[in-house]
Amino acid sequence: MNMSWSYQAPLREMRFVMGDVLDAPAAWAGCPAHADLDIETASTVLEQGARFASERLLPLNGPGDLAGCRLDADGRVSTPPGFAAAYQAFVEAGWPALAAAPQWGGQGLPLLVDGAMREMLDACNHAWTMYPDLLHGAVETIAAHGSAELQQRYVPKLVSGEWLAAMALTEPQAGSDLGLVRTRAEVKADGSVRVSGNKIFISGGAHDLTPNIVHLVLCRLPHAAPGTRGLSLALVPQVLPDGSRNAMHCDGIERKMGIKGSATCAMRYDGATGWLVGEPGRGLAAMFVMMNSARLHVALQGLGHAEMAAQNALRYAQERHQLRAPRRPEGATTGADPIALHPAMRHVLLRLQAQVEAGRVIAGRTALALDLAAHHPDADTRKAANARAGLLTPLLKAQLTRLGFEGASSALQVFGGYGYVHEYGIEQSLRDARIAMIYEGTNEIQAIDLVQRKLLGDRGAAFEALLDECRAEVQLCDPTPELQAFASALAEQCDAAARGVAALLQRKDAEAVLSLAQDAMDALWWLLNAWAFAVSARAALRVRSRDAAWADAKLARMRYGVEWLLPQAALHWHRILGSDRNLPELESAR
Ligand SMILES: Cc1cc2nc3c(=O)[nH]c(=O)nc-3n(C[C@H](O)[C@H](O)[C@H](O)COP(=O)(O)OP(=O)(O)OC[C@H]3O[C@@H](n4cnc5c(N)ncnc54)[C@H](O)[C@@H]3O)c2cc1C
Repeated sequence: MNMSWSYQAPLREMRFVMGDVLDAPAAWAGCPAHADLDIETASTVLEQGARFASERLLPLNGPGDLAGCRLDADGRVSTPPGFAAAYQAFVEAGWPALAAAPQWGGQGLPLLVDGAMREMLDACNHAWTMYPDLLHGAVETIAAHGSAELQQRYVPKLVSGEWLAAMALTEPQAGSDLGLVRTRAEVKADGSVRVSGNKIFISGGAHDLTPNIVHLVLCRLPHAAPGTRGLSLALVPQVLPDGSRNAMHCDGIERKMGIKGSATCAMRYDGATGWLVGEPGRGLAAMFVMMNSARLHVALQGLGHAEMAAQNALRYAQERHQLRAPRRPEGATTGADPIALHPAMRHVLLRLQAQVEAGRVIAGRTALALDLAAHHPDADTRKAANARAGLLTPLLKAQLTRLGFEGASSALQVFGGYGYVHEYGIEQSLRDARIAMIYEGTNEIQAIDLVQRKLLGDRGAAFEALLDECRAEVQLCDPTPELQAFASALAEQCDAAARGVAALLQRKDAEAVLSLAQDAMDALWWLLNAWAFAVSARAALRVRSRDAAWADAKLARMRYGVEWLLPQAALHWHRILGSDRNLPELESAR
């Protein structure tokens, strides 16, 4: 039982980001798929989602961590008590179908709204949310690349949530390097395949939430080319269309650091029956369909943890009294003040708040780009939005997952010794948050993707478009006295980024570029934060007449970000501009 771990869904923040900062209704109006959506409807959906997350999922979070999953002698996996009933309620309320296309029975809402819903689910119970998290990606993959028969048989049941999905990529020898996958598939005369091999770390590979689980398995056909070019993707259901069990088994579930309520399965496929999704040898391409949205979802896990950490640490800091603060509240008579008044704790809390709020804006911007890339009628707009989403995705995945973990760690400090014990919730959050930095492409792989594919790959074209948007924001802020500090900070970040990326583009040596990949990742994240602080401050001024106290507090947090956080970018640009040294070999470094 968590003593005081609670959740107030940041509904007001979400509405502010969607409506006032990003002006999403204008974008929705331009996309026929979302033209009927308005901010009131989106907010109502999120209010209901907040209720589901905090009333159904949060109470299961701590107990689920303690109970974990169980594997019985028959290879059947049980999830923690209450998980299955909560999933049934989730399905009955229609939540799995939120972002799926209406043609498959979905509600067709934008990823921007769906993403806000996911942030809340993840904040309240990351382990539980792992089960439905893969639905959207599986639906997209099968809908884009599966045969008409596979689509008819599987997509509607996945969209409704009647069945769940698992992504089976990883093998003992094949983690980041999927080119090493060995699982085999043989094509039969009727066009089906028989899949044989061992996969590890498969989230939701087996469980008791649904009567069928649809596995998307990365595999290799006979005589396939080596490496990733030889990979195919097979749909392998746990229960076959004739009702019999398929030849696939859960051989074990991992004992692990966090998300203990999520079953992480070692799977064995013994000639299991399946069907190819997409062309033979084009398995990775089929999976690329879902890559950006899957990474957005993992980023939102980090954001959910960071939000949870920030708000619970703030509540605790306001209640906990220790020592006198340098500036005491008026009329204070007791010997000790709330720790929220001590500057060191204020820094922790403000740092978290500013980063969470900026992170939500950047996540929203990415989701909006994905929505435009999928639904805008104009091909050039779709292309530009796709490039923007591609550039932002690795940044978002790596940086928000890091914020989730590091934010939980800094929030734990606010709880002092109580933070270290289970009852207060934050230690679980810290453990649960850590995995998001590893799966769905480790954060190091995200940094490589950023520099090699997204910056060097198009010779900086997507970056230039981002820079244009940032510079336009400088122009919008500059004339307003209250926003000048935001304008000049953003202008400074733009100039540094332009110089830094130009220097990176000139590097010919892959070792040099990759040695600077993390610095590029960090520095560009501060550029995005500078943009988010500015655009949020400008929006806060616009809504000030509605609620001056809220707007002023928002401006103060965004100003804190500019003054106390952005200076960190200089270190990373300094290393990028100044470094002409190679990393030492590890042996000589010891
Ligand atoms: C709880 C959990 C759930 C998971 N769920 C799933 C799932 O549902 N489906 C699935 O298929 N897999 C899943 N995974 C597997 C996960 O995706 C892999 O663990 C991840 O891709 C990393 O692979 P690896 O563990 O083999 O690490 P490795 O690839 O061996 O990497 C080890 C370290 O080396 C670094 N590294 C590797 N190559 C490079 C490089 N070129 N440059 C810089 N650094 C590098 C990595 O970043 C990492 O820090 C899950 C894992 C866990 C723990």
